[in-house]
Amino acid sequence: MFANLSVINHPLIQHKMSILRAKDTPPREFKPLVGEIAMLMAYEATKDLPLEEIDIETPLERTRGYRVAGKKVALIPILRAGLGMVEGIAHLIPNARVGHIGLYRDHDTLEPVDYYFKVPGNATDRIFFVLDPMLATGGSATQAVSALKRSGADQIRFICLVAAPDGVAKMLATHPDVAVFAAALDRALNQRGYILPGLGDAGDRLFGTEGIP
Ligand code: URA
Repeated sequence: MFANLSVINHPLIQHKMSILRAKDTPPREFKPLVGEIAMLMAYEATKDLPLEEIDIETPLERTRGYRVAGKKVALIPILRAGLGMVEGIAHLIPNARVGHIGLYRDHDTLEPVDYYFKVPGNATDRIFFVLDPMLATGGSATQAVSALKRSGADQIRFICLVAAPDGVAKMLATHPDVAVFAAALDRALNQRGYILPGLGDAGDRLFGTEGIP
C-alpha cells in the first residue's frame, strides 16, 4: 500500500501487540512489552546491514567469521514515548549511541513543537533509527527526520509500533528515502489525532501518567 512501509507480521510481535493494545494492560506490563516488540522489530529493520569477514579463533582452530560493517548505529527516540523502545533495541545493538529529540504535540493544533535536540556527532558515519511507538499524523516524525538531516544524517530509518495511513503518507511525501517499519498499520486517526484502533496515548501508558494534566 505504501512504498516506504514494511509491516512486520511476526507472530510473536502480533501476539504482544494485542496485549499492548488492551486497555487494561497496566504500565508494569506495557513497558516491557514495548521494549520486547521494539527489539523484535529492530531485528527486521537491521536485516540488510552489511557484513565484513573477519578471522576468529575458536578454542579448536582458526576460522572465518563476520561482523557488522559500515555505518555505526544511532538510536534516536522522540521524547518521551520513544524512550520506551531504546532499551530493547540496545540489548541487540549494545554499541549503539543514543540521541534524543524532544517534540510534543500541541493538543489544539496537533502540530509538533520542538524543545530538545542532542544527537551523536559524525552524522555521515552513522545509520539513524528514529524511534516513536506511534506514527500518527506524521508531524513529529517528519520534523524529527528533517532536524536529523539538517545535522548531516543521510541514512535514516523510522521504527514505530503502530502506524496510521496519514503518518506513513506524510513520511513518504516529505522523506521518501526514509524506510518506515511498523508492527501494525491501523485504520485512521480520530479528531484529536489518536490512532484508531491504536493503543491510546503511548507515553501515558508507558509512564503511568494517564489522567494527569
Ligand atoms: N500518540 C499516541 O501516543 N497515541 C496515538 O494514538 C497517537 C499519537
